[in-house]
Amino acid sequence: MARVRGRDTKPELIVRKALWRAGIRYRLHVRGLPGRPDIVIAKARLVIFVHGCFWHRHDGCGGNRTPKSNVIFWETKLAANVVRDASNEALLRAAGWRVLVVWECETRSVADVVAIVEKVRGMIIIPPI
Ligand SMILES: [Zn+2]
Repeated sequence: MARVRGRDTKPELIVRKALWRAGIRYRLHVRGLPGRPDIVIAKARLVIFVHGCFWHRHDGCGGNRTPKSNVIFWETKLAANVVRDASNEALLRAAGWRVLVVWECETRSVADVVAIVEKVRGMIIIPPI
């Protein structure tokens, strides 16, 4: 498993479908943006990452456990992912983007997904000039 994040992972699909059904339009995996965000809502300067709890070390989450073998390998690899995530988020924010991170474990129930959609909806209301 060389890749940090595959395309079209299940939690990402769940979020995308829910947003689409809510009438929210977006672009996917935009090249040229730090970290190639999973979902980009350009008109609202909002990017969304859907992070796997294991690969991105969701703090305090049961899905974030270091495997029992090759501990040093995993600790090093996963720590590097966390550093890279923070760096990408900082670059995006510096470029004027807002960053929303959705965790895999937040996509498991319908109520949670509805809450994500509402959060995004709140973030894409563009104030009048
Ligand atoms: Zn989690």
